[in-house]
Amino acid sequence: MNLDTILKHVEKPSRYIGNEYNSVHKNPADMNIRFGFCFADVYEIGMSHLGMKILYHLLNSADDIYCERFFTPWVDMEEQMRAHNIPLFSLETKTPAKEFDFLGFTLQYEMSYTNILNMLDLGGIPLYAKDRTEEDPIICAGGPCAYNPEPLADFVDFFMLGEGEELMMEVMDVYRFFKKNGGTKEDFLKEAVKLEGVYVPAFYDVSYNEDGTIQSFTKNYDDAPDRIKKRIIRDFDKCFAPDNIIVPFMEIVHDRIMLEVFRGCIRGCRFCQAGMIYRPVRERSPETLLDLAQRLINNTGYEEISLSSLSTSDYTRLKELTDGLLDMTEDKKIGLSLPSLRLDNFSMELMQKVQKVRKSGLTFAPEAGTQRLRDVINKNITEEDLHNAAQMAFSGGYGTIKLYFMIGLPTETDEDILGISHLADEVVSIYKHTDKEIRNKNLRVTVSVSSFVPKPFTPFQWVGQNTQETLFRKQMLLKEAIRNRYVSYNWHESTLSVLEGVFARGDRRLSKVLVEAHRLGAKFDSWHEFFHMDTWMEAFKNTDVDPDFYNIRERSYEEILPWDHIDVGVTKKFLINESEKAKRGETTGNCREKCSGCGVIPAFGGDFCG
Ligand code: SF4
Repeated sequence: MNLDTILKHVEKPSRYIGNEYNSVHKNPADMNIRFGFCFADVYEIGMSHLGMKILYHLLNSADDIYCERFFTPWVDMEEQMRAHNIPLFSLETKTPAKEFDFLGFTLQYEMSYTNILNMLDLGGIPLYAKDRTEEDPIICAGGPCAYNPEPLADFVDFFMLGEGEELMMEVMDVYRFFKKNGGTKEDFLKEAVKLEGVYVPAFYDVSYNEDGTIQSFTKNYDDAPDRIKKRIIRDFDKCFAPDNIIVPFMEIVHDRIMLEVFRGCIRGCRFCQAGMIYRPVRERSPETLLDLAQRLINNTGYEEISLSSLSTSDYTRLKELTDGLLDMTEDKKIGLSLPSLRLDNFSMELMQKVQKVRKSGLTFAPEAGTQRLRDVINKNITEEDLHNAAQMAFSGGYGTIKLYFMIGLPTETDEDILGISHLADEVVSIYKHTDKEIRNKNLRVTVSVSSFVPKPFTPFQWVGQNTQETLFRKQMLLKEAIRNRYVSYNWHESTLSVLEGVFARGDRRLSKVLVEAHRLGAKFDSWHEFFHMDTWMEAFKNTDVDPDFYNIRERSYEEILPWDHIDVGVTKKFLINESEKAKRGETTGNCREKCSGCGVIPAFGGDFCG
């Protein structure tokens, strides 16, 4: 494979060369298992993904397993590969994908599904699981979108639900046994399905009612579980964390050390899938994190550390951790960033601490423009919280504030939309009332609005999504309302959110739509320049599938949902209760205030939720 020739004709060739600092090199001939870790987007996005870093180094920590990376080649590289009959290849050894035992996809975003099909196609691997042979790799998948695996069920041999650190190695043990003793793929799947967290779609049949809803979801293999329970790492402080992550040659999206301080979230915002599926909360200790940070700094030379979690300001020992990190980093000019700060526990002391090395803007997420709607979505923050945080920020010399909102939320009215502009004006007026001597000379308030997409395993999993036309009307209503010269406004393409809504709550009948869209050339749908809604509408027409059935349609609590066979611990009863409270505009406190009985304790035992 003469890569050098074609790399001259593509942009960012370092996406395809591998050999980066800390990348793993083994002799494939000595390996029992070759695992291809696939990220269905370009190198610089995939290399920023923490899950990939963890599982790549975890798999390679086993002597007889070689985990290599695959990313979706950019369009210019794909053109060269197809022109020169170069199949999809791994970064480490440039080995064709077809030669691997496993190809494992992390499912981060529904709009990357056509890239998965394109990678299989580029690898010369049949798209449908039923068409693959013993010669083809076993295709597996995990990650947040796997909590509704059904749109991909016809393409994936098995899914791993929940946290992979323990499950992945258990699956490798099962496979090693069958590879050594000459079992078939079917034999392997029939054994792997006995592991908690493994879902083999082929072992279940789905039937539908006249109206298109699911009539039944039944297993056709006795040893398959009735419901697939997600896996969690109980003692997260002892959970595997790589200390020698790869340092890329080229700049990537998140080019820094990511220190995962805890998993789960105590908050229970009703639109947030992560806040439900990653429960319960489990923290790492500052001692473990500081030791890990020191080793990561020594092994990578990175000059920035970000504390990652769903709500870092909720970490119970944040002061201890940030003090320790500052002692470790300040003199080396290593920056510290806290991406996810909540308005109601924003502290100036914390801000000044982490901005000692590099001062950047502040981001807050009120999510909704009125208190009524913030209560409906259970955001549990008030206008006063925003005022206090803004006042603290301006008194601390900040001049750049970003405010995140969503439109299309359940029960939303135009008054709620206009409330967004009102909040932005409030922030500007607080700046104007801040002492000129201490405030920043410049002010820039950015209102960034995304469209709400109802997701499985949330209290809003039954609501109808706004149509594209309604979302656009609301985006323009807000555009008209924002007249403040200090406020800039940006919004996300609503058509993309509407399509995301189809696959987020879709079922197996969408597999033919994906194949048709792939055939029509759909790829990199999450990239504005490549997303073509007309291609998708043609795919829906050609396969006689109505997208409105999946995104716009309201569901009843009695309906069998495509993901009902997945058990995340949080019960349907709790979600229905939260859905009803939302309709009444009632809030639910966070888990540290009071347990609201979501079901996680009975499901996973222990008393470690708060
Ligand atoms: S069981 Fe209670 S404390 Fe634990 S995550 Fe659920 S609601 Fe929160």
